[in-house]
Amino acid sequence: FWEISYNIAHLMSYVPVSIQAAAAVRHMEELIDEPTRGADRRGAPDLPRISRDITFDRVTFRYEDAETPVLNNLSLKLDAGKRIAIVGPSGSGKSTLLNLILRLYVPNHGRVTIDGVDTRKVTRESLRSGMAVVFQENMLFNMSIRENIRLGKEDASDEEVEAAAKKAEIHRFIMSLPRRYDTVVGERGDTLSGGQRQRVAIARAIVRDPSILLLDEATSALDQTTEAAINRTLLKVARGRTMIFSTHRLTSVVDMDEIIVISGGRAVERGSHAVLMKANGVYRKLWDDQSHGHHDSDGEGE
Ligand code: ADP
Ligand code: MG
Repeated sequence: FWEISYNIAHLMSYVPVSIQAAAAVRHMEELIDEPTRGADRRGAPDLPRISRDITFDRVTFRYEDAETPVLNNLSLKLDAGKRIAIVGPSGSGKSTLLNLILRLYVPNHGRVTIDGVDTRKVTRESLRSGMAVVFQENMLFNMSIRENIRLGKEDASDEEVEAAAKKAEIHRFIMSLPRRYDTVVGERGDTLSGGQRQRVAIARAIVRDPSILLLDEATSALDQTTEAAINRTLLKVARGRTMIFSTHRLTSVVDMDEIIVISGGRAVERGSHAVLMKANGVYRKLWDDQSHGHHDSDGEGE
């Protein structure tokens, strides 16, 4: 599958790892933005911080050369301040849904609104400044941990960087390193474990103080113990924000406020874990399949 996160990782392998990294990240944003053909409209207003909801209003979306749409007349309201899981099998359109919220793509029909405002009608700058994304694999650059976190917010003070690391529950680990925040992480971040890399990525997201925090399979590559630990951290950092958490691994979603099941281009079920288990539908079936030893991969430990 073509995945935005994978694509960034792939593109990044061509980018010289250097102090240019911040510029490189911005450049990547431009590159992955290209498919939107979505330059700001002239005189577009800024989008204020979200207070009510993100709404998909009869959204149909089809990738350029695909025959069938990924999302088909999808209507969905995601309430502000909630921790919401988007689940469904691989290829069901979870990443696509997040990409539409980010306006990396725009719907063919229908619209995505934030507090009632069509995301296409506001500046991309203001739209993005209220959001942060953590992917399954996140690029860490060959520079200090401090600088890696600061990529989330260029002008963050050292205090802001450390506050974000505390929230991501990686501060104590960083302080245990001989060079602390000045520790240079190896190219592609391989001096850190998978779990530590994700925590640095979470700190990078949190330093932006986003009102909308998007997580695309952010814990799916981790072993179950690390996954559970990071999910606990995420539930805490989500306080006061809207968290949208896409995953195909249902163990991650049990404690979410709400779970939305995507299938066949639509939202087919929604509710808490308990409610969806009782409903005995698609969610229950996915859950049963996954609890019969079908857990994929033991990812990397923390
Ligand atoms: P999920 O995240 O649930 O696994 P995706 O949103 O990544 O699903 O993909 C939904 C469908 O769209 C899949 O069939 C996938 O192959 C297809 N798809 C994803 N990205 C692209 C793309 N850039 N171009 C064409 N098809 C794509
Ligand atoms: Mg995906």
